[in-house]
Amino acid sequence: MKVPFFDLASQHALLREPLHKAFNEVAESARFIGGDPVKHFESQFASRLQRPVVGVANGTDALFIALKTLGIGPGDEVITPAWSWISSSETISLTGAKPVFVDVNQYFTLDLVDIARKVTPRTRAIVAVHLYGHLAEMEQLVALCKDHDLFLIEDCAQAHLSSEQGITAGCWGDMAAFSFYPTKNLGALGDAGMVVASTPERAQRARRWANHGGLSKDDHAIEGINSRLDTLQAAFLSVKLPHLDHWNAMRRQHAIQYQKGLNGVGDLTLPLERSGVHHTYHLFVIRTKQRDALQHFLADKEIETLVHYPKALPFEPAYETYGHVPAQFPVSFQLQHEVLSLPIYPELSDAQIDYVVEQIQRFFAQR
Ligand SMILES: *Cc1c(COP(=O)(O)O)cnc(C)c1O
Repeated sequence: MKVPFFDLASQHALLREPLHKAFNEVAESARFIGGDPVKHFESQFASRLQRPVVGVANGTDALFIALKTLGIGPGDEVITPAWSWISSSETISLTGAKPVFVDVNQYFTLDLVDIARKVTPRTRAIVAVHLYGHLAEMEQLVALCKDHDLFLIEDCAQAHLSSEQGITAGCWGDMAAFSFYPTKNLGALGDAGMVVASTPERAQRARRWANHGGLSKDDHAIEGINSRLDTLQAAFLSVKLPHLDHWNAMRRQHAIQYQKGLNGVGDLTLPLERSGVHHTYHLFVIRTKQRDALQHFLADKEIETLVHYPKALPFEPAYETYGHVPAQFPVSFQLQHEVLSLPIYPELSDAQIDYVVEQIQRFFAQR
């Protein structure tokens, strides 16, 4: 049995008609920048979050614009997790500020104890990443940011409609960023992203940043960039958004099936859910000391797995000048050698999950 890591083709086969219709409508309108499809998707997404939003070109731009909207720049330090995708730190550097890496906890999110060690008088903000679909400790982070007068920015690229105590990811901080990269829980058929703001004023400032400083064509109150949500992508996203709750529910169901089958197998550590968190399993990441051997074994059985991520950010060549050492980020350092992402997406069948579970059980039985 083949188990690919992603299977967007089957998702799109089910949505073939509405996606084609969306394409035809935009093509026939011959309006490819802005317009009703963008407004429509923004209003649909805003109503799910109950916060003002601004469609942008991708999730990385959304983070950059969120930071610029809050005035982050040269001389500032911004706290960000050592264990994440590089967008959550490179955008800090792009503003001219300094990314200050903090280690993560057993939930793969910011370690509050390490944050306390790294706050300085120059610290202006914290970028909290809700990695793999699980929220960072938002209640404590909100309190900590209030105490130290810091901005809180949420990276929700892997956490569409995840929540904690019923509060949706993106609604806890001062600003938030979403990505609709094709393989995210809500994905476009290309690049797309969204900025979420805590106030209409911040949303308006973000909109200026995304559109050459203007709210209309010849308005340049400030300098900005060109980062617009593509009209065609907005039309596709409006087709997909109504399915997101169901897709997330399917991911959660698959996670339960994996948990049942893999509990107590070998030396595996399975994903944890902190109490009160509604995890949406963008990724199902297991840990084992025999990661590489297990990955090869599964590849032989036509089960595709990936590593998110092979290297913690502080140890990437991009950050070499900071001279980070493993002892500063012990958890992230260890994760590099232990994490393995199993296939998880709504269209995965029970039989496929059973097959993955069986093969992992077989791998450890042989040892
Ligand atoms: C995907 C991702 C991003 C960036 O999104 P793009 O749309 O690819 O620019 C940012 N942060 C995290 C954690 C991501 O997984």
